[in-house]
Amino acid sequence: MRRTVVIKIGGGAGIELAPVLAEIAGMVREGSSVVLVHGGSAELDALSHALGHPPQTITSASGHTSRRTDRRTLEMFEMAYCGKVNKQIVEHLQRGGVDAVGLSGIDGAIWRAERKGAIRAVEEGRTVMIRDDLSGRVTGVNATLLGSLLELGYMPVLTPPALAEGGVAVNVDADRAAAATAAALGADELLLLSNVPGVLRDPADPSSLIRSASEVGAEAVAAAAGGRMKNKVLAAEEALLGGVRRVVIGSANGATPVANARAGAGTVFEGAMA
Ligand code: ADP
Repeated sequence: MRRTVVIKIGGGAGIELAPVLAEIAGMVREGSSVVLVHGGSAELDALSHALGHPPQTITSASGHTSRRTDRRTLEMFEMAYCGKVNKQIVEHLQRGGVDAVGLSGIDGAIWRAERKGAIRAVEEGRTVMIRDDLSGRVTGVNATLLGSLLELGYMPVLTPPALAEGGVAVNVDADRAAAATAAALGADELLLLSNVPGVLRDPADPSSLIRSASEVGAEAVAAAAGGRMKNKVLAAEEALLGGVRRVVIGSANGATPVANARAGAGTVFEGAMA
């Protein structure tokens, strides 16, 4: 049986979509089974500014930051992720001869999520409780729907939000959603491609790449990963725990980023983590 590869392309600034999508289209035309997951944070930031509701972050007591997702932000989130970015990617892939189908996690309840309860946040040194945030984490994947699409020759292109209890759309981390998807589909490989070459010991120094996560150990990798890299490392670990054989955090740029990542360019997670 063909094993599926799940590829997540970041939504950060500085990612060139055309080359990576042309490469993926080539793989699919040659018979590979691929599920693509994407983000859209840079587009959402731009849209939020344009529509007069600038991005806000929540800082937890432990220092973790996330996007404040109120109702208005969720609406703009859907415009940016499910609208502009998703359709742009589908258009590229269709032009490349691939029958891509763009869906969000709420379509067909592809991603079920658990909504975050009250969030204890720190604002200007004071602790506040935020109760209306529309965010959560993926707890279930509709593998039947994705498997059927793949079986029929369609390529799913997936993006947050996900569907929480009561049919509420919530913002979820796309890297971790990709990990859950890879695990649910029994994928062989998960590639998390973004605007950096992998997990860097020093984020300011591209030559400080950690090549093998298994060799340096989970703690060292987690200690190096700051900011938004934290979720990618968490996603890699969740995918391995879910039975995915290999995860690579690598660059989305260059002429052949997928082949590069599959050849081990980036930070490779394999087998049990020390
Ligand atoms: P995405 O493209 O998936 O949205 P992000 O921009 O969210 O990706 O995540 C990658 C970002 O993580 C990098 O741009 C960088 O600013 C940040 N980062 C923090 N710590 C590290 C690290 N140790 N190595 C690489 N990147 C890091």
